[in-house]
Amino acid sequence: MVLDKLGETLKATLEKIRNAVLVDDTLMNELTKDLQRVLLQSDVNVKLVFSLTNNIKEIIKKSDIPQGISKKEFLVKTVYDELVKFLGGEGSKININKKQFKIMLVGLFGNGKTTTAGKLAKFYTKRGLKVALVQTDTWRPAAFHQLETLGRQINVPVFGNPKLKDPIKIYESFEKELDKFDLIIIDTAGRDALSDELIDELNRINKRIKPDENLLVMSADIGQAAENQAKAFHEAVNVTGVIITKLEGTAKGGGALTACSVTKAPVKFIGVGEEIDDFEEFDPKRFVSKLLGFGDIEGLLEKVKEAVTEEEAKDMGKKFLKGDYNLIDLYEQMSAMRKMGPLTKIMEMIPGMGQMKIPKDVLQQQEVKIEKWKYIMDSCTKEELEDPEIISSERIERIARGSGVSQAEVREMLKQYKQSKKMVKMLKGQAGSSKKMQQMMRKLQAAGINQNI
Ligand code: GDP
Repeated sequence: MVLDKLGETLKATLEKIRNAVLVDDTLMNELTKDLQRVLLQSDVNVKLVFSLTNNIKEIIKKSDIPQGISKKEFLVKTVYDELVKFLGGEGSKININKKQFKIMLVGLFGNGKTTTAGKLAKFYTKRGLKVALVQTDTWRPAAFHQLETLGRQINVPVFGNPKLKDPIKIYESFEKELDKFDLIIIDTAGRDALSDELIDELNRINKRIKPDENLLVMSADIGQAAENQAKAFHEAVNVTGVIITKLEGTAKGGGALTACSVTKAPVKFIGVGEEIDDFEEFDPKRFVSKLLGFGDIEGLLEKVKEAVTEEEAKDMGKKFLKGDYNLIDLYEQMSAMRKMGPLTKIMEMIPGMGQMKIPKDVLQQQEVKIEKWKYIMDSCTKEELEDPEIISSERIERIARGSGVSQAEVREMLKQYKQSKKMVKMLKGQAGSSKKMQQMMRKLQAAGINQNI
């Protein structure tokens, strides 16, 4: 895997959080040290590393944790979010938005430019575009043949002429033929360093060809030095993005990726091997998920999305207070509260149910019942849901038939509804002052949070 060592250490760090009893200062300090060590080893800039760990600490200290997830889960989610931000947030994918789109590749010798031209051509051919490759490197005689070989391998035509010495002349001699292609990928000559001569040559090509994207190809093994190179190329020849190659073979990849993410030339693709398919569009979310272990992170993100926010919890409180309580409210409360945790806790929160000391297996049966309630309610008319008092024996018979449950089950649900409604009325009378109600709601919320810590 790409950045094996970094991934392994990050996974171990998350495991430490999961195994910890409490999210306290000791855990936070240990986490900070682990993250700092692993990121510095990966050649990430010291200042960036410290700002990342400080951000995580601040967020944990100041944020309200959504109900339904534990503090530990919130911490894992925060580490994930901050790492994603660190690598460029939403990312910066190329948007091929017109019929003839041109991508020019620039970079220094040996960084993988020509190989990447082939990889990029395959990437877009697979996505249905008609792609052509153009070799304008007149410095390295073998460059044309190298690209030709790659083109043959992926069935993409390669245009070039090793006999001509002027890159613009080469391009112009094929301009008409190139008209029929959706995407033109232009490989250019490199040098050992960004010399005035190279700047001049690339600017001339730029001016004539007017590429839509001008991508700098850089090897990951230069680590955080990638930032200066990206900046220099951006300023000199208007580079719009970066492709980091050889990411699988260096410990310094983290440095190269993060360094470019903060420049005006963000990472668009990564090369992860010598083969033509060892190539990916750079998506920070996907990349971090992979580093941290997909399964673990995707499940958690889903859970966080579903967690009840404080706002939603307040809305539920208001409904209790209003007292106009019907079957839809009962169902909505049941589903919303289920997000808060196991049924034992939820039962304590539902009016009328807290007093009943219900054994565990009965509670499990209750879970099944709640599922059935949904079917029952689906078979009720709108009027019945809004005013369950009108549900007569005949209606019960009809509802049972429609939902595939017994009449006894329908009656049981209605009984539960009546009990809850009675309790809501009582609470309304008792609470009277909104202060008392607020206290009660706070208790309800606390029950939802504490069981998860
Ligand atoms: P150019 O001078 O920039 O055009 O570089 P080349 O395309 O000739 O590549 C230089 C060397 O880097 C070749 O041996 C490639 O096979 C190798 N290379 C390119 N991209 C990658 C990559 O993502 N991973 C690895 N391991 N090698 C790569």
